[in-house]
Amino acid sequence: MGRSDELVRRREEVVCRGVGRLSTMTAAEARGAIIVDADGREFIDFAGGIGVLNVGHSDSEVVRAIQEQAAALQHTCIHVATYEPYVALCEKLVELFPHGGRAKAMLVSTGAEAVENAIKIARQATGRTGVICFTGAFHGRTTLCATLTSKVDYKKGCGAFMPDVYRLPFPRRAPTDAELSEGEIVERELARLRSAFRDTIAPADVATIIIELIQGEGGFNVAPKAYIRGLREMCDEHEIVLIFDEVQTAFARTGRWAASEHYGVVPDLSTLAKSMGGGMPIAAVVGKAEVMDRVSPGTLGGTYGGNPVACAAALATISQIERLGLNERAIEVGDAIRSRFDALRARVPAITDVRGLGAMVAMELHADADLDRPATALVREIIDGCRGRGLLLIAAGLESNVIRVLCPLVITDEQLERGLSILEEETLRRAGAGVAGAAGRH
Ligand code: PMP
Repeated sequence: MGRSDELVRRREEVVCRGVGRLSTMTAAEARGAIIVDADGREFIDFAGGIGVLNVGHSDSEVVRAIQEQAAALQHTCIHVATYEPYVALCEKLVELFPHGGRAKAMLVSTGAEAVENAIKIARQATGRTGVICFTGAFHGRTTLCATLTSKVDYKKGCGAFMPDVYRLPFPRRAPTDAELSEGEIVERELARLRSAFRDTIAPADVATIIIELIQGEGGFNVAPKAYIRGLREMCDEHEIVLIFDEVQTAFARTGRWAASEHYGVVPDLSTLAKSMGGGMPIAAVVGKAEVMDRVSPGTLGGTYGGNPVACAAALATISQIERLGLNERAIEVGDAIRSRFDALRARVPAITDVRGLGAMVAMELHADADLDRPATALVREIIDGCRGRGLLLIAAGLESNVIRVLCPLVITDEQLERGLSILEEETLRRAGAGVAGAAGRH
């Protein structure tokens, strides 16, 4: 039995099975875009710790900042004593993520906590309780976040869920929409929201609408710009707090600090996490000061939120994103992935869609290009085949039939090409080439 097998066996003995396990892969060390497993085998990392490692594994500046901060001050708790890294990080966040006028921030440790706190802020600021979210959404696994999260597999048996949460279809092209223009789809979905205000919840009872501009776990579905503009107008009209959950999309993943920059729409609040800490657990809510401050002192926070070591890691990560030009690099990486995926799509009928924004790119697969038959098993086989050849990938989507790339943005051209070639070969081998333009394509 190899060391990896032995480690996984030990995990099975003592780690609760509710902690999801996507593969039998192990990790002993990692640098840049390469992970080395417990048996010394190297893997190109296209998962990036689920979108956490835009700056790469163990970036030397991030490691140095962690070491120096750990030696200087590890913890006091922000409620007990104010320390420089917390304040400096909030100053940096409000500068990088403008929210129109004066902005403020607060720090927590995980994406789910950021979402929870954003909802709590919106409720206090409006004095209302209703929350509107979307199908395909993923906002975390706490009970409130699991209520907002769409995919049932993440929350089976975990209810009762929170009251006063309403779900609308995410504004996207359905298989039956082949004949519709994007404008028509946007109109239909905005009309659906307007009718929800008549048949589901009065707008005066809605505290907030929370949306991912590009759904992460949901399969890299990109919300149309016109829909988001319409959403902003409706939130303004009814004084509803608009939250963009940018946990997976921010910090250069789409080629911008925030995906909202592509949309030219300013939310009231944004949730940030993942690639902000370069691998350390840190997250934030950033938003309009007039909303952020309409809350009672003591209702937000926690023992570890904005831990000094995590703040130092985040400050170093941000300065590395700036110094290494990772926003520009994301565009190059994204273009390279997209052109390979588009070329593959032309050869493999099972690939029914290629989508994303910046370096957040995915392809969706359906058995025999039949849009009623998500190719879940095939995607699993392709991913397992890639792992056998030294490429780590993860799936996404309500049906787990989407292959997504969240590689570190510091990946070298050679590593990226090698990874894409493995994925291409495994897809061709398992999904088979066919006639371009096969029936059922959308
Ligand atoms: N929101 C989004 C958009 C996410 O992608 C995730 C994590 N995949 C979360 C919230 C929850 O973050 P965490 O796992 O850090 O709680």
